[in-house]
Amino acid sequence: MTPQRRLCLFTTLMFAATFGLATGVARSQDDDPLGSVVEVGGETIHFTLPEIEGLRRIGSGGLQHRHWTAKTSRQQVIIRVHVYPPAHDTWYDPADIVRSEVFRLDAFDNDVLLDGLDTHEYLDNRKTGLARAYLAGGFVSHPEYGTGEILLLAALLKKRAFSVTVTRYGTVDADTRDALVAFVRTGIRAKVLVHDPKRKGKRAIAWLDDLLPQAFDVKKFKPVIRTKHFVVFSNSKLPRSHGKALERTYTRVREMIPFDEPKERALIAGIVFANRGEYVRFSEATDRSEWIVEQSAGHAGSECFVTHTGAGVDTLTHEAAHALVSGRAFLIHGGSWFHEGLAELATTTDDQRREWASRALDESRVVSLRELIRAKRMIEGVGRIDGNDAYRQAALVMAFLRDGRQPEGAFTRMVHAIGMIRAKNADAQIAALEEAYGMSLADLDFSWRAYWRTR
Ligand SMILES: [Zn+2]
Repeated sequence: MTPQRRLCLFTTLMFAATFGLATGVARSQDDDPLGSVVEVGGETIHFTLPEIEGLRRIGSGGLQHRHWTAKTSRQQVIIRVHVYPPAHDTWYDPADIVRSEVFRLDAFDNDVLLDGLDTHEYLDNRKTGLARAYLAGGFVSHPEYGTGEILLLAALLKKRAFSVTVTRYGTVDADTRDALVAFVRTGIRAKVLVHDPKRKGKRAIAWLDDLLPQAFDVKKFKPVIRTKHFVVFSNSKLPRSHGKALERTYTRVREMIPFDEPKERALIAGIVFANRGEYVRFSEATDRSEWIVEQSAGHAGSECFVTHTGAGVDTLTHEAAHALVSGRAFLIHGGSWFHEGLAELATTTDDQRREWASRALDESRVVSLRELIRAKRMIEGVGRIDGNDAYRQAALVMAFLRDGRQPEGAFTRMVHAIGMIRAKNADAQIAALEEAYGMSLADLDFSWRAYWRTR
């Protein structure tokens, strides 16, 4: 086992530039709140706003932002439009924009759970022009505004993308809700270019060209693997069996954490460099931290993963598992133990884990569960155990959480709860774990060891 372990990286490759958006809201009135046009760089989006009492525009309305709000004593509705810059138009996927909006809301103290409302789909609405728009619904809560519901729509323009975020805090009001759902389904019109979800031909080259630092010759990279859910570009050869391994990982992750798979969903893309030197060069040029460059053999965002041929198929599938967990199952937060545990659980066999368990427990190569959850990065080791052992312990704990005796639905509740808790907030992750399993952390710590001792 090389010290260059695989790891995950949840600052995604593609959206780092879109966070940290303006929030300062200067109030001004808008006389005509029910119809609006946002025009950016010659592209237009038309909004027919919902008829809600007191809806009015706020903010000075820069080119890229629009805000409307309606507030009564019982509820507050906020509609927010953001137009994304054209830099990465060739590889925007509307579902990723939805995810980046969730990150943004999160940064402003909203807890978002994209689950409720039964709304999670690609729209292909020729009438409104929103082909391959993505619509997600769920719940939101804010320390000041209270709890409520959220609808997120993202769609593509010819060169840009835009999102519409509708949040509603406060008491349920069926009319308002219906009006808001109708608004996101039919009240927004634009002329859009249908994006190629399969990353084929010129668009794939443009996507790669955008991603690869200048030192790389994009022409040397070919789509060497293309399966139902993945495309892997490489400047080297890869065995065809890697494609099967990737699909196997897909199946396992989806069994572990069921998620929707609309058939229009973009393929998850990977890049496999010919050697570690190139991977390091790529990582350095794309501004990865020193520890990633030095210690890792691969990393993943939510829609793309990167590795090199020397790291082998295990790293490839491990990184693909990360991309699936964050990009398909939408578990975007949670600590290193959580993501490494899930990725390893999806890519190792029970026999392998049993063998790890007997050695790790016999030789005391494990740390307390609290220490594991609190550790910033498994790859750097945790307390007295090294990175490899930390990955293994994370996998063993996760396997116990999934397969051990537990209250019904505990694993599913746990992954969705922790997947929404920021990595640094270890105490909240521990609380979510205890709540899902109805056990104290100390009992869980005892139980996972006991589980493996008896297997
Ligand atoms: Zn990893």
